[in-house]
Amino acid sequence: MRQFQIAYENREVFRGELKKIASWRKSHPTSGALFQIFTGDVEEEIIREIEQVIDEEMPDADYYGCTTNGNILGDTLNMGQVVSCTLFEYPTSKYKVLQYEMTEDTEIVATAALLQTVRDNPWVKAVELLVTIRGMSMTGFTEHLSMLPENVQVFGGGAMSENLDSRHAKVFSKNGKISEKAVVFVVYGGEDIHITTTYVTGWKPLGREMVVTSAEGNTLYELDNKPAYDTYFRYLSIKNDEHFFNNTLEFPFFFQHNGIDMLRAPISSNEDGSIVMTSDMDEGCVARMAYGDPGVILDCVREEAEKIQDFQPEVIRIYSCAARRTFWGDEANLEFAPFQSITSTSGFFTSGEFLRTGKFVNQHNVTMVIGALREGNVKDNYVKTLTINDKRFSGQVSMIRRMATFVQAATEELEEANRQLEKAAITDGLTGLSNRKEIQKRITDTLRRSVNGGLLEKTAFPVSLIMIDIDDFKKVNDTYGHKEGDLVLRGLSDMVRRVLKKNAPGSSAGRWGGEEFMILLPERDANQAEKIAECMRKEFNKLVFSYSKQHSISLGVTQGRGEDDVDSICMRVDSALYDAKHAGKNCVVVK
Ligand code: GH3
Ligand code: MG
Ligand code: MG
Repeated sequence: MRQFQIAYENREVFRGELKKIASWRKSHPTSGALFQIFTGDVEEEIIREIEQVIDEEMPDADYYGCTTNGNILGDTLNMGQVVSCTLFEYPTSKYKVLQYEMTEDTEIVATAALLQTVRDNPWVKAVELLVTIRGMSMTGFTEHLSMLPENVQVFGGGAMSENLDSRHAKVFSKNGKISEKAVVFVVYGGEDIHITTTYVTGWKPLGREMVVTSAEGNTLYELDNKPAYDTYFRYLSIKNDEHFFNNTLEFPFFFQHNGIDMLRAPISSNEDGSIVMTSDMDEGCVARMAYGDPGVILDCVREEAEKIQDFQPEVIRIYSCAARRTFWGDEANLEFAPFQSITSTSGFFTSGEFLRTGKFVNQHNVTMVIGALREGNVKDNYVKTLTINDKRFSGQVSMIRRMATFVQAATEELEEANRQLEKAAITDGLTGLSNRKEIQKRITDTLRRSVNGGLLEKTAFPVSLIMIDIDDFKKVNDTYGHKEGDLVLRGLSDMVRRVLKKNAPGSSAGRWGGEEFMILLPERDANQAEKIAECMRKEFNKLVFSYSKQHSISLGVTQGRGEDDVDSICMRVDSALYDAKHAGKNCVVVK
């Protein structure tokens, strides 16, 4: 596999370049020629011109392309037109270029046609895609692509235009029209083609976690039940004006989707405080702000570029977010040039990046997606040529990096302290069991979900309580002191925990008061609860404390009923316990 890269100047110069490639092909057997055409200019004339010259000079070649927010031509950013020609050298290598209409209504037709093609051509190993997004929700599209056989890789990007605010973007191919509503799929495969993919963000999480409490499509309404814009203003004092996009670019959102970290950048904010994001966000997901720092990003580039180099690629394709180009300004090439130092690299700046990670195809933002292709096996004598120009950023740690590290460390400490406080607020200090407030809450919640809560039969289940009181406990304190009493309380708690772990997972135990304990047993009826209670009674009898020796407990048991609330069920179990005391203690009474 070999790739020629051409910065388009005009028809005649281009024709000359193609003639050179054609003559190279005469002396080197090739099994196919595939052109990629990327143009920042959305005018169709220039696309037609390029297509025409290819048709004339290399009629057997296939081609496809799109409009972009800047082109990657080796190690330089190109704002005109870039044509790259990939030549396949192995006779087994295959590819096919497909183009379909792509709107929210026809997305399913396009993906179904691709799935069929892949089924009909079991040689397919990877799908590269170029698509017009135009603010459309791509959730359905990516979900359908996730139905491809799991060994098929997917990578690609959304068409765009030079103008960040313009929705005019086009894709095209040899057998398809130049279209503002289309997707181009290129399937690659055959036994000697090898393809690997990866992605780089480099943005790092910053600050505390927030829950997306309200979102629809790519509109983010609320974070932690507050208007999303307030968060941006509160933490970053970014104003809701025409600079919003540029100002928020360094601080997009990190969130987890299909188990992987993804970024979404805010595009604009609305009067109601909602924010329009670069693409869909899931309601209920946990998000954090993220920050971009050149040095940190280049460290991540190095890590991924090294992995890609180990694959020994012959051609690299990069689909990188337009937001990254804006972030880097004139230096956008710093993060893609390293790939050119490995091998011939082409690509463009997109309106969205697509990549399959594991089973799922995801739409990324603010991300650089990389596809690496090779024909034949890896070589023993491969020469590593990766170089990264990060001198300006290494050695010296930027102010933002220091501040971000500080904020992150402080946030983690606070989050940990919060977790401890939350735990302390619901835990009994002496025994480590739930406190009364917490066990009451759990009883209330469980009653709501149980048969007694009147929910659907399907989810219905019984629920039972056991209440425990130590017999003649006052004497222990009076005779052996409070310390010994505390040891007995702890001994009882440990025993309860042990018995529940073995016999009733999913149950909860709490300290109800002094030497009284309450046990909640969801999905257990009175019979099962009685057996567990009896087991606890016997186990407690067996414990021998150093000074006060052996003790006994009395237990009340009851099962929840249709009309129960937390008070009525607790009163009934308390009354069962009272009966047990009156029956002579050291026994179980069910009521
Ligand atoms: P009965 O068999 O009827 O339950 O008799 P009892 O002595 O256990 O009953 P009572 O309710 O009169 O006594 C409870 C005692 O529990 C009173 C108190 O000294 C002791 N107690 C309550 N909380 C604690 C505690 O946290 N530590 C210790 N050591 N003792 C406690
Ligand atoms: Mg007692
Ligand atoms: Mg008592």
